[in-house]
Amino acid sequence: MGVRGKLAWALKIDKVSKPIFQATYRELMNILIQTSDNVEEINQKMKDIGFKVGEDLLMEYTEKIRKHASTFVEFSSTLQLAYKVNSGQEFTDVWVSDDGRVVKFTDDHCVLCEGVEIRDMPGLQYCNLVSGVFQAVMDLRGFNAEAYQESCRALGDSTCTWTIRLRD
Ligand SMILES: [Zn+2]
Repeated sequence: MGVRGKLAWALKIDKVSKPIFQATYRELMNILIQTSDNVEEINQKMKDIGFKVGEDLLMEYTEKIRKHASTFVEFSSTLQLAYKVNSGQEFTDVWVSDDGRVVKFTDDHCVLCEGVEIRDMPGLQYCNLVSGVFQAVMDLRGFNAEAYQESCRALGDSTCTWTIRLRD
């Protein structure tokens, strides 16, 4: 007897304490801030870390991801599923452009930004880890696309937005 597909994926993810995760992430960010020359460098390093995290998380799901969707827009449902499985919550909204080449994911209750307020580092993408994970998933799936963060609650925005955009 086997449980297949989405359900199996959800069941196989072990859970970790949210306060521990958030505290670890804050300290990771603190170290990046202390060891970087500017905000762009911090953002890039956090995205690189997210990329590695994405690779680790998704290694065993490579085949599943390849089969999961055929188009870029359909693929956004893979990211929704991955986000729900790993964060325990769903996006507040998912917006798709008319031409199907841009998808914006928002979360009004981003776990990474919860309780965080940074007002002296404009341009910082506090939860850019998510962009890196998305980048890894898209690269793994073979899409020529980029992922980046557009808004961030920790910096005072009303929601966190991560965008994926097909390159020409
Ligand atoms: Zn956030």
